[in-house]
Amino acid sequence: SEAQELRMALGNIKIKGSGCPLPVARWSQLGLTSDVMNFIMRDLKYELPTPIQAQAIPAIMSGRDVIGISKTGSGKTISYLLPLLRQIKAQRPLSADETGPLGLILAPTRELAQQIYEEVLLFTKGDEAINAVCCTGGSELKQQINSLKRGAEVVVATPGRFIDLLTLNMGRLLTTKRITFVVLDEADRLFDLGFEPQITQIMGTVRRDKQCVLFSATFPNKLKNFAMRVLNSPISITINSQN
Ligand code: ADP
Ligand code: MG
Repeated sequence: SEAQELRMALGNIKIKGSGCPLPVARWSQLGLTSDVMNFIMRDLKYELPTPIQAQAIPAIMSGRDVIGISKTGSGKTISYLLPLLRQIKAQRPLSADETGPLGLILAPTRELAQQIYEEVLLFTKGDEAINAVCCTGGSELKQQINSLKRGAEVVVATPGRFIDLLTLNMGRLLTTKRITFVVLDEADRLFDLGFEPQITQIMGTVRRDKQCVLFSATFPNKLKNFAMRVLNSPISITINSQN
């Protein structure tokens, strides 16, 4: 089929779950704004989407929950970041009395959360409508609280610190009720570091019709079982780097 031919051209891609959209061959096929396109192609000089980007971005943009498995360095960050930012921008602006993030990205360590946060800043630079905050343990709590008070559409966090902030001031600082997009990045490491209970706790407070995506370099069975519990009939995309 056409889908299989396109996927063959990208290498060895395995899809599970029905209804996965076709992968793209070029950035221009993703319906990105010209600002984002120019930023990717002219400033970052990313000529073409990587295989995980080519298949995961259209799948996520179709609104589905997605599992993306692909080795380190294969471009997973913008695979979820572009759809997340687009989904947030498509929502009506919050009025002054509405607070709480729309997008949540959970990462296993402070360093990884910081890297993701910097990438979010790159892609939201000059966009007044999207503020981001990085909430990790071991760094300035006061700053994080002040940023949350000012209002942040995107929160990048480690699970433990996110829960600490949720319970602070009797839950009046941070609410998950407006979150419509959740990312579990480096899910294998989240799992290895024992964050399953915290993630389960957080997911239990987020609205059921949220979109949730999970990215990982490896996908051991225990993580698979967890993913199947947390995600809603996901499309799973595996890029096999052997071929
Ligand atoms: P992963 O999360 O899979 O480990 P990253 O998202 O951190 O990978 O990306 C790895 C590197 O590849 C980064 O330096 C990033 O800037 C670069 N990169 C991402 N997408 C592309 C692309 N389409 N073309 C060229 N370089 C890219
Ligand atoms: Mg990554």
